[in-house]
Amino acid sequence: MSDIIHLLPDSVANQIAAGEVIQRPASVLKELVENAIDAGANFIQIVIKDAGKTLIQVIDNGKGMSETDARMAFERHATSKIKEASDLFSIRTMGFRGEALASIAAIAQVELRTRRAEEELGVMVEIAGTRVFKQETIHCDTGTSFLVKNLFFNVPARRRFLKSENVEKSHLLNEFYRIALVNPEVEFLFNDGDDEIYRLPPSNYKIRIENIFGKNLKKRLQQQLLSIETSTSIVTINGFVGKPEFAQKSPYQYFFVNGRYMRHPYFHKAVMLAYNQLIQPSESPNYFIYFEVDPESIDINIHPTKTEIKFENEQAIWSIMNATVKEALGKFNIIPSIDFDQDGAPEISRNRTDVNILPPQTNFNPNYNPFQTTAYKRPEMDWEKLYGSFEQKGTGIAIDESDFTKTDIFSSRPEIVDQQQIIDTEDLISATNFQFKNKYILTNVKSGMLLIDQHRAHIRILFEMFLSQMKNKKGLAQQILFPEVLILDSENSLFFDQIKDELINVGFNFESAGTHIFNVNAIPSQLGSVSVISLLNNMIAGTKQTQQNPVDSYHETLALTLAEASALKSGQSLTAEEMNDLINKLFSCANHNFTPDGKTIFTIIAHEEIQSRFR
Ligand code: ADP
Ligand code: MG
Repeated sequence: MSDIIHLLPDSVANQIAAGEVIQRPASVLKELVENAIDAGANFIQIVIKDAGKTLIQVIDNGKGMSETDARMAFERHATSKIKEASDLFSIRTMGFRGEALASIAAIAQVELRTRRAEEELGVMVEIAGTRVFKQETIHCDTGTSFLVKNLFFNVPARRRFLKSENVEKSHLLNEFYRIALVNPEVEFLFNDGDDEIYRLPPSNYKIRIENIFGKNLKKRLQQQLLSIETSTSIVTINGFVGKPEFAQKSPYQYFFVNGRYMRHPYFHKAVMLAYNQLIQPSESPNYFIYFEVDPESIDINIHPTKTEIKFENEQAIWSIMNATVKEALGKFNIIPSIDFDQDGAPEISRNRTDVNILPPQTNFNPNYNPFQTTAYKRPEMDWEKLYGSFEQKGTGIAIDESDFTKTDIFSSRPEIVDQQQIIDTEDLISATNFQFKNKYILTNVKSGMLLIDQHRAHIRILFEMFLSQMKNKKGLAQQILFPEVLILDSENSLFFDQIKDELINVGFNFESAGTHIFNVNAIPSQLGSVSVISLLNNMIAGTKQTQQNPVDSYHETLALTLAEASALKSGQSLTAEEMNDLINKLFSCANHNFTPDGKTIFTIIAHEEIQSRFR
């Protein structure tokens, strides 16, 4: 019997590949416009007919192609954007696979016209079903025009699969928005047949959003948005989030990373949780969020149509994202004078006690502020009296606010690292949590009932976070409206100099206002409602003390003092999400058994012990 395996002709191979890359007219639009962006164009015109089924044309004023490149561009795996495998880890362009044009040319009739600025004449190539029909020299403007006609002309089954004009058109517009929103400096013109549907002048993010979506809305979109901005060593986040009262059933929600649209359900959750209790469960806020990260820290290669992106520092970015949005919402609710929109008169009251701000709803807590811990109230203590045996040595007594003024705790820190209890975290995630006496979180684990002291758990979480911020210099700052003044004597000023940089790393900002005098104009965004000056004085005193005991690192002293000042208090009621979040974060800590000063964070009441009480 003769051999039966043979290579497929290019036309067939390209058609198969096209099935992945080109699903509908919108995919053609995306690929062509992205190529125009990659070619450095600052003007791009799009023309469609019959929702792109008969015609899609993209004209740009980018760098154009040489005669040879114009032919090469249609070969599969032909690209000018990467050369070797290692380039895959530093992608700055939209395209890199070299598949799009080969795919389009396999399933449509394509006419390319292109000229580079340094050449007098351009070139025209006509290709359909992977066959080149014509190639000639022409007169044309600098830049490139791709005309794509009769999509799927040679794949009738695919053509029949296309949806109604309205559906295909909305896909086209969605792709257009995803590119136009993140390239505001590029001018766009979008024609549907003879109608001009968008003319977007070069602008900035804010105006581009308004120009695209503004006309659909009653109120100016800009007045509905709060700006967000955070810069850390692993990510820079910019953009806008909707004010809670403008949440809607079908919101505009866009994430971009390094100039590319992305879907990211995990980061979406980080945004949504920041709105917890501020909006109705059936509604969702608008957001337009732009991430910049080192291209080496993301993998854009995981999905052929490239909208899902894997991040190296996903968890850290999650927390930064969540804190950034909370901060913006917190500022908006607390500080009336900070407003995104400077040019229009405010149309709504920013006073958060005004019920008009948020839609009235039964489960709405008007005092909720995601940014601040609520006032401390000492809880009742009868629980310990009754069940003291579950907590060792009465350490379950609530720590009150004044605790963070104590510095002596460091001298007696026990060695605890080796005594970690192993908790089955999978078991934890599926469990339902309860709060007991607004002080403990109760949850199921395999061996019994787990009780977590919420205040101590939070101290551990914040302690590790502040320590890592000191190391990585990525603390989130919160500006304060009226700077506090720190006045030091010359001795304290020496110790202050020693810790100043660490404090800046976690989010403080100081401005010299004379000899030994500083204005404090920003504080770490995690910090609760505390007296900033006495906190700073405590940290200076703590540093002094650590100097006398060289075993202790002053980093830890600072981190613990900050953590104790910021931690949620006993007596504070928590939502299900907050409890979940606390549990997840606690068990991601390097040490989750004890607070840094050696207090038990959680205890497990064995199933047997519970059973034994039911005799
Ligand atoms: P990729 O974008 O992944 O490189 P494509 O198939 O989309 O692959 O394009 C192939 C090549 O054709 C690109 O790498 C680029 O060099 C060239 N090209 C495509 N479109 C344009 C354009 N509008 N202007 C200039 N060059 C282009
Ligand atoms: Mg491309």
